[in-house]
Amino acid sequence: MAQLLDGRALSCQLGPALRSRVAALHRPPGLAVIHLGDDPASAIYVNSKRKRAARLGFFQRSLTISADTTQADLLALVADLNGDDAIDGILIQLPLPAQIDATTVLDAIRPDKDVDGFHPRNVGLLSQGRPRFVACTARGCMALLAQSQVAVCGASAVVIGRSNIVGRPMAMLLEKANATVTLCHSRTRDLPDLVAQADIVVAAVGRPRFVQGSWLKQGAVVIDVGINRLEDGGLVGDVDFASALPRCAAITPVPGGVGPMTITMLMHNTVDSAERRQGRG
Ligand code: NDP
Repeated sequence: MAQLLDGRALSCQLGPALRSRVAALHRPPGLAVIHLGDDPASAIYVNSKRKRAARLGFFQRSLTISADTTQADLLALVADLNGDDAIDGILIQLPLPAQIDATTVLDAIRPDKDVDGFHPRNVGLLSQGRPRFVACTARGCMALLAQSQVAVCGASAVVIGRSNIVGRPMAMLLEKANATVTLCHSRTRDLPDLVAQADIVVAAVGRPRFVQGSWLKQGAVVIDVGINRLEDGGLVGDVDFASALPRCAAITPVPGGVGPMTITMLMHNTVDSAERRQGRG
């Protein structure tokens, strides 16, 4: 029977150590969450982040602003938060409305407050194998992998999806952990054959039940990043869980796998930042 890599349970397990790190700080970690507009899916993510930060005793600046905010106004807000000494981490909930160039705005966040790990400086440091802030979802996937019995060092890993927020940083982290990594995307040929060689499969595609159990090597470890809302309201991942389960050694469920770990790693990144800024990291 495959091991379920439970992100909720792991988040709880990591809680006490994180709380003691928060308690050891001179002042609470400060997190600013900027949310533009009223997209219900984004609002759910933002509220979960705010609630988790509140439970950990963070200082928060929660900025929900109008969807028609101009880029200049948003950049001014980022500049204000960059200069606010009580703030250790700045997060801008994606996606952003059409009038905003996400790259320009994300690049304006001070790299040492970039708790999402999207700034080119932090991406560059990761690519050089000396990570500072690592994208939260990829960091969460590595923590889940550590829960499985798989030895990442020397393993063959296939990452499906090459987005800047998930697939690319995941491939870099696996490579840093000495896996041999194949990064796949929409132009990849013979994807099922590549997946069949892999000890570790990470799916970050955004297509419901895309990866079939029949593609998997017996005993593979499967990390399903996908969150896909079906017409009936149900949530499924990018992996066909039912057909994958009998073939794999371990798999993340959706929901309850990678999702909770993304928020947990945002909290870790913010505490890391607070420690560094208070000379403790
Ligand atoms: P993107 O849309 O940015 O990237 C999707 C990637 O999948 C692209 O690289 C694309 O290739 C690739 N792709 C698309 N179709 C195929 C195909 N047929 N075969 C192989 N590769 C394909 O998505 P994200 O990375 O932002 O998100 C991926 C999924 O993860 C989504 O379901 C999202 O909701 C979920 N997610 C979950 C998080 C969590 O906390 N659990 C956090 C972030 C995202 P190409 O580059 O060629 O277009």
